[in-house]
Amino acid sequence: MRITVLAGGIGGSRFLLGLRSLGHDITVVVNNGDDITLFGLRVCPDLDTVMYTLGNGISAERGWGREDETFRLKEELAAYGAGPSWFGLGDLDLATHIARTMWLREGVGLDEVTRRLCERWQPGVRLLPATNDDVETHVLLDDGSTVHFQEWWVRLHAEVPAREIRLRNAEQARPAPGVIDAITGCDVLVLPPSNPVVSVGTILAVPGIAEAVRATAAPVVGVSPIIADAPVRGMADACLTAIGVETSAYAVASHYGARSAGGVIDGWLVDDTDAATADKLSAEGVRSRAVPLWMTDVAATADIATAALELAAELRR
Ligand code: GDP
Ligand code: CA
Repeated sequence: MRITVLAGGIGGSRFLLGLRSLGHDITVVVNNGDDITLFGLRVCPDLDTVMYTLGNGISAERGWGREDETFRLKEELAAYGAGPSWFGLGDLDLATHIARTMWLREGVGLDEVTRRLCERWQPGVRLLPATNDDVETHVLLDDGSTVHFQEWWVRLHAEVPAREIRLRNAEQARPAPGVIDAITGCDVLVLPPSNPVVSVGTILAVPGIAEAVRATAAPVVGVSPIIADAPVRGMADACLTAIGVETSAYAVASHYGARSAGGVIDGWLVDDTDAATADKLSAEGVRSRAVPLWMTDVAATADIATAALELAAELRR
């Protein structure tokens, strides 16, 4: 089967490890909202997290960046007072950003740059940025100032309430080559348990992508990133609060909305503990199924992916 997945970083790539083990033809459209220019280098955190994770190069301990990493360059930069110091750029990781920035400056598109980087990492899936254009998620804080999403997330730990979260430059952005075809030409479209606001939400904010999701003949199945009213890892609740959505499996599904009612999903996998939401979801046109949603290892995650594909098959019938 041809399966397309709209993914962020850590949650998306963990899910992909399970899905990939089932042996399908997988295309991943990755969020660009986290992208940032640091020390003159273009950094694409979610693309790199997916690439390193599926390429067996991710730091198992941190969940981002490279295994066996050192931070000597970062210390040298700090010694010059050249900031920012809050973003962890390891020495091995920096080679990726240097190669990417060099190719981008030569006029190569981010999709082709990503393909070149993946030639080394062999992730076993096709990785596409959502867009080749420079978009970045910015966060409007309560005091009226605006910061890059990374600064809010990494430096401020999302502890300062956000008033608004927006993908800057979205209006001018176009989907990267291959993205629309991957959405309209697949057999199943999956929204993995990625952050609904700053991962999936920012992919859908690129003009044309949400429209393609609404139009595809493929069933669209989402996996809840929320279990028992809590984000499993990270601070997704802070993002949901900023857009006025409750932190619950039901509220996220309702926020995505049923495609039959103008939304973007047909089916929704919830954790066993959230099984009681089925009736409410069904009344809104979303068919749900409850299974254990903890991605503890590849085998458990493969079971989640299998359940998503089974729900998709039911929806196709
Ligand atoms: P990021 O870009 O690195 O923040 O990663 P994603 O946006 O792809 O995914 C982050 C989300 O994954 C978090 O907000 C969690 O809600 C979700 N998540 C992490 N681990 C698990 C898990 O084991 N099960 C489920 N259902 N969701 C998870
Ligand atoms: Ca991210």
